[in-house]
Amino acid sequence: MNAADSESLARRMLAAGYVEDSLERADVAILNTCVVRQASEDRVYSKLYELKDWKVPGRTIAVTGCIVAKEGEQLRRRFPHLDAVVPIGDYEPFVAELEGRYDYSQGEPLPRAGRTGVSHYVRVIQGCDHNCTFCIVPRVRGREKHVPQEAVVAECRMAVADGAREVVLLGQNVDDYHDPDGRGGLAALVREVEPISGLKRLRFMTSHPQDLEPELLEVMAASDVVCRELQLPIQSGDDTVLRRMARGYQTKHYRAIVENARRLMPDIGLVTDVIVGFPGESEAAYLNTRALVEEMEFDVVHIAMYSPRPGTFAATRLDDDVPHEEKLRRLNDLLALQREIAARKTARWIGRDVEVLIEGRDELNRAFGRIRQGKRAIVMQGRDVAPGDVVSLRVLQATAGQLLGLPAA
Ligand code: SF4
Repeated sequence: MNAADSESLARRMLAAGYVEDSLERADVAILNTCVVRQASEDRVYSKLYELKDWKVPGRTIAVTGCIVAKEGEQLRRRFPHLDAVVPIGDYEPFVAELEGRYDYSQGEPLPRAGRTGVSHYVRVIQGCDHNCTFCIVPRVRGREKHVPQEAVVAECRMAVADGAREVVLLGQNVDDYHDPDGRGGLAALVREVEPISGLKRLRFMTSHPQDLEPELLEVMAASDVVCRELQLPIQSGDDTVLRRMARGYQTKHYRAIVENARRLMPDIGLVTDVIVGFPGESEAAYLNTRALVEEMEFDVVHIAMYSPRPGTFAATRLDDDVPHEEKLRRLNDLLALQREIAARKTARWIGRDVEVLIEGRDELNRAFGRIRQGKRAIVMQGRDVAPGDVVSLRVLQATAGQLLGLPAA
């Protein structure tokens, strides 16, 4: 979501006549921020301290993103060298103010190329109507606002015309999407975007087990364009913890979704999020999560230790009673388990031919991209492969995180 916001602001700045440059040479530095965890918020403050020396007369520092909703104008009091605090998505007044300060409109015409990469992110919902007790997102991003289907389709068309080969539909809870004019939910939207000529891949994230429509899985299974990957956070494998998190589903619902998805698409990639050490998470509750991770065989598990976020229900009403060392032990235990599972799962791809949408080149100058199931894949040889190409790859090796192979004959 933040990457999409950065893209949108960057596009607006480029259209106004600015160019991207290194921090040393730049006149304007904009920090796009995340506050989902305390660590991300602390990084913003340390970056702002660092920028103090960078700031000389004529230079501008702005902050946007979730910290603006959380801290607002207080930021300026704490960091007097900060010039602008820009609410998410409300970029016009800021850009207009800058235009008065730096007149680049007389400069070189701007190269548009390069803004739209192979993948283009399209925000379809802003905000979230759920109230998971640990989450600060509804407070900083507000209630859901849904982008009309027509506007989403138009943006996707434009991105593909501009060179994108993959479109990623984004929402904090993308499954809750519905067109404000009654043209249907996410499955209907996917059906509208999928036929765009030149579009090779269509992804969406993040899903929610309470809101995912079975129809969406059917649309995925029937399509050659929609990727076979679900980002479906479970958060805990214990029903009492899920209830305290106010997630709105039980583990049996989650299992039923995964069973249905794997019946329709046996090789579907499954990514989840887990929080360990949530208030009241007993050893038995943790072991339920561990057992569920083992049973589900996820491809990727993003594991976080619970940290209370001020302003959330959990921070104000629940006792953060799992000691830090215990949280760390559970985190490391789960990480080790998932590493084994991921290695076992990727090894199953060896010998198979997969389609890779090439995104770029790695530090060894090998082309890389992702397969439809979401895994990263590396083309070990093949100099004439370019970003945006779809390459058929015979998988020869696999690590926990990626597949490696040669172009299939
Ligand atoms: Fe936060 Fe996701 Fe829950 Fe919304 S659904 S409150 S974004 S965790």
